[in-house]
Order: sequence, then structure tokens, then C-alpha cells
Amino acid sequence: MIALELEHVTKDYPGGVAALEDVSLRLREGETVAVVGPSGSGKSTLLHVAGTLELPTAGVVRVAGHDTSGLSDRELSAQRAAHLGFVFQRFFLLEQHSVTDNVALGLLYRGVRAARRRSEAATALERVGLGHRAAHLAARLSGGERQRVAIARAVVGRPAVVFADEPTGNLDSATGAGILGLLGELNADGTTIVVVTHDQRVAEAMGRQVTLLDGHVVGDTCHG
Ligand code: ADP
Ligand code: MG
Repeated sequence: MIALELEHVTKDYPGGVAALEDVSLRLREGETVAVVGPSGSGKSTLLHVAGTLELPTAGVVRVAGHDTSGLSDRELSAQRAAHLGFVFQRFFLLEQHSVTDNVALGLLYRGVRAARRRSEAATALERVGLGHRAAHLAARLSGGERQRVAIARAVVGRPAVVFADEPTGNLDSATGAGILGLLGELNADGTTIVVVTHDQRVAEAMGRQVTLLDGHVVGDTCHG
């Protein structure tokens, strides 16, 4: 099954920047994909467009087989909440809220009741090895713990695809290795992982490497 598909996707930004040009990609369910390439090559744009956070200028994005063009903002948000999870390099945690609240936030747009959000958050925190930090304020966590909270928030709704933009970029290598292991565990449960990375070790740990240059896919180790 195809989890996500981009067909002839172009993304232009104001000022004449062609961030993506005619990108076609099919991600199969359960695949692990590293998106690599120099700074400015369009990696983050690819993640945002594939994740329907930004609309393509041209081309089609399909999530779980459904064409997303023509959907309203509300429909897109619902579809994102149901199928997709995001881990950004900056964690965007609510500093003065508990770890549990931060993770429960990942379910806010799915119409899940508060008590259920909390119990699902607790499960997700156990999954990332942070059950013992559930009541802590986000502001008091270490860098690696913060990234784990961001991952728990991304996976709390059990999305089919998790996107991560430089998830180990701000972490020391031991902590980064832990995050990598966590992504591997998620994948073992069937989650498709798409990770933007500069880290060769992370890229090599993924089953497939897609290389971008100036908005074009110039390499793809997928042969099928
Ligand atoms: P990468 O993640 O590989 O470093 P990006 O996807 O962030 O690359 O950027 C690709 C190109 O698009 C760059 O030239 C960047 O300056 C430009 N770009 C990215 N986001 C915007 C934006 N919101 N507005 C204008 N230009 C942008
Ligand atoms: Mg980027």
C-alpha cells in the first residue's frame, strides 16, 4: 500500500524561489526514508508539502490514497490529525505546561475527550521511555527529553506517517542515537518514517535515501 504520494509537485515561494520542481515520490507503508541534500535544497519544503502543512503550487499530494487538492483547511487538518505526525527540529513545547499536557495536545484536533487524551498521552510517554516525567513542566526537561516529548506528541494519535525534520540536529550523539532507536521502534510497529537529516548515521539507518538538489530529486535508492 502507498502511504503517501507526490505527483509532479512544484512549490514556488514569493520572490521567484522554486523550492521544489516536479517532484514525484511514492512512499510505501512501513518504509523508512531519509531526505538528504545541502541546505536550501528543499528538504523542509518537501516535508511541509508532503505533510499538507503547505499547499503545492502545482501537482498532487495523496495521503492514504486520497487526493488532498481541493480540500478545505478544516478537512486538511482533520486528515493530518488522522494520518500524519510531525517532529520539528525546534520542539515547540508549551514550556509552562506538563509533559502530559504537551503530548495530549497532539489529539486536540481529533475530537478526543480530555480524559482519553490524557490516558493516550500516558501511553505515548511510556512508549518513548518518559513515563516517569509525565507530571514535569516541559521547561525543566533536558534536550533529549524534550525531543522525546515531541516524538510522543507526534505519535500519540498513532499516525501512519511520521515526518521528522532534523530530529537529532540539536542533540549530542548519544542522545541522537536514542532518538534514532525510537524511530526504529515506531517503524517496527508499522509506522512510515520520513526524516530530513544532515547526519550520515541517521540517513544510513533508513531503508531509503532521497537526495534533493535545488528543488529536484537527484537521487533515490528506491528501486521498486
Ligand atoms: P532545506 O530544508 O533543504 O534547507 P528549504 O526547504 O527550507 O531547504 O528551502 C528551500 C528554498 O526555499 C530555499 O531557497 C529557501 O530560502 C526557500 N524558502 C523556504 N521557505 C520559504 C518561505 N517561507 N518563503 C520564501 N522562501 C522560502
Ligand atoms: Mg530545512
